[in-house]
Amino acid sequence: ILGAPGAGKGTQSKRVAEEFGVQHITTGDILRANKDMETDYGTPREYMDAGELVPDAVVNEIVEKEVGEADGFILDGYPRNLDQAEFLAAITDLDAVLYLDVSESELTRRLTGRRVCSECGDTYHVEFSPAEEAGVCDECGGELVQRDDDTEDVVRERIRVYHENTAPVVEFYRDEGDLV
Ligand code: AMP
Repeated sequence: ILGAPGAGKGTQSKRVAEEFGVQHITTGDILRANKDMETDYGTPREYMDAGELVPDAVVNEIVEKEVGEADGFILDGYPRNLDQAEFLAAITDLDAVLYLDVSESELTRRLTGRRVCSECGDTYHVEFSPAEEAGVCDECGGELVQRDDDTEDVVRERIRVYHENTAPVVEFYRDEGDLV
């Protein structure tokens, strides 16, 4: 599933995963859970908190392992550039590529207002989808926090990185005829 940050990839993939009984593989969540892992390129945090892409070698290794272990999957947050798209083509076949097309002003509103549960990962929005009690998860009572990279400056950079690196991936799959 492709789309800019804030397009709704996480929300929609979760639904697809439940509906079709496939695994939801989210590179962003896996990296967030391993933010301070030492790699040959430094830690993921150094890239993520600045809104930059984590180096391909790190992300490709994660995806190869997850895809290899899954009996059916929806990939969320990957591929983010053409080199990753080529790596993916070499390790598996895709049935379809979903693209969520959302305007830039809407992306910024969604991301800067997004809050996530620090316990269960459930997603809220201060304006569009508030928790019953401000700051507290409806599902598990965990604390709702803003992601380090959902601040206005980092959001602007993430959208720039999307246009530069990921928008060409959409065109790649459109040309292949796989895009929905
Ligand atoms: P996300 O939750 O998908 O918005 O991802 C959060 C951050 O994780 C991104 O801004 C990147 O720093 C990193 N990340 C996630 N997926 C990838 C990927 N496929 N390639 C490189 N970096 C990634």
